[in-house]
Amino acid sequence: MTEPAPRPEILRISPYVGGESDVAGVNRVYKLSSNEGAFGVPPGAVAAAKVVAEELFRYPDGSAAALRKAIGARFGLDPARIVCGAGSDDIIYQLCLAYGGAGRDIIMSAHGFSIYQIAGTYAGSQVIKTPERNLTADVDAMLAAVSASTRLVFLANPNNPTGSLLPAAEVRRLRAGLPPEVLLVLDAAYAEYVERPDYDPGAALVDETGNTIMTRTFSKIFGLGGARVGWAYAPAAVIDVLNRVRSPFNVSVAAQAAAIAALAEPGWVEKGRAHNREYRAILAARLVKAGIKVWPSEGNFVLADFATPEKADAANEFLRKRGLIVRGVKGYGLPHCLRITVGLAEEVALVADALDAFMAGAAHG
Ligand SMILES: *Cc1c(COP(=O)(O)O)cnc(C)c1O
Repeated sequence: MTEPAPRPEILRISPYVGGESDVAGVNRVYKLSSNEGAFGVPPGAVAAAKVVAEELFRYPDGSAAALRKAIGARFGLDPARIVCGAGSDDIIYQLCLAYGGAGRDIIMSAHGFSIYQIAGTYAGSQVIKTPERNLTADVDAMLAAVSASTRLVFLANPNNPTGSLLPAAEVRRLRAGLPPEVLLVLDAAYAEYVERPDYDPGAALVDETGNTIMTRTFSKIFGLGGARVGWAYAPAAVIDVLNRVRSPFNVSVAAQAAAIAALAEPGWVEKGRAHNREYRAILAARLVKAGIKVWPSEGNFVLADFATPEKADAANEFLRKRGLIVRGVKGYGLPHCLRITVGLAEEVALVADALDAFMAGAAHG
């Protein structure tokens, strides 16, 4: 019997593994595995979602006009050049399906965000991973991989799971070295956390070129990962393409209302950024003191480097037994590392205490 079969490349995709949220046999868990904002949902967004509950029998505004207007006002961008998605992942998929495909290659860096590989392969593209330097995307390596078949380049800036960042001048050099027919997608999911003066999320480059896109999300500092809202700022021609192919009602009524309210929450981003500045430094310093290498991070997480996969696995198990869930990053080619989200003060202390104990035990055992 012949069974229905997808295109062969589909079965070569490894399903995305999200951060875990529970551990068998452990009552209280601390989820530090998905880089969700430390402070939960903005109170105004909770209230807004409750208010629209009665409206859930209605289809959403498919153009998300009010949300685009609010995003435009907040970030100083033209709402006509914004498109919203069910998370920025949704937009990444649509870009791959529209601009990728058989014979249309996609470039990403070796430890770049894994959705690019999944969505690109789904589209039928060959996804080329270029070497990094010090767990940072290397512009020269990315440019060297460009061929006449290249159509898309994805750069998460800062990158997940490494936390590394390319300064604005390097991003500009990348853009300048790419042929005009190649779309450069700047994924700035963690932009709000970055405080380095040499950083730019990419809106200026979108304005200056006809072939650069910036994607953003409500899933991290805005605390709405479960609502699924992301957006892209892009040239008019790309917006036109995305509006042709995206699912027409891709952002739900509740998600649109919550996102608008999250933008209006007084001091929310400042509070998240200030907390992250303080506690990312505390977490990193404590891990270093315990004898663990920590890669510099501009996001709301750190990449802890245990030097060997065995030690990273043992540390992960040690944490899990104590209800502390962090993220293994084997799928990112980093089996010797664990990614740890910067949580509340209490969570940072718990994970640091546990890793202190683990390292002390490892040294003696
Ligand atoms: C979390 C994250 C996203 C956001 O995904 P959503 O679909 O918006 O939740 C995008 N890119 C990177 C690099 C991320 O880490």
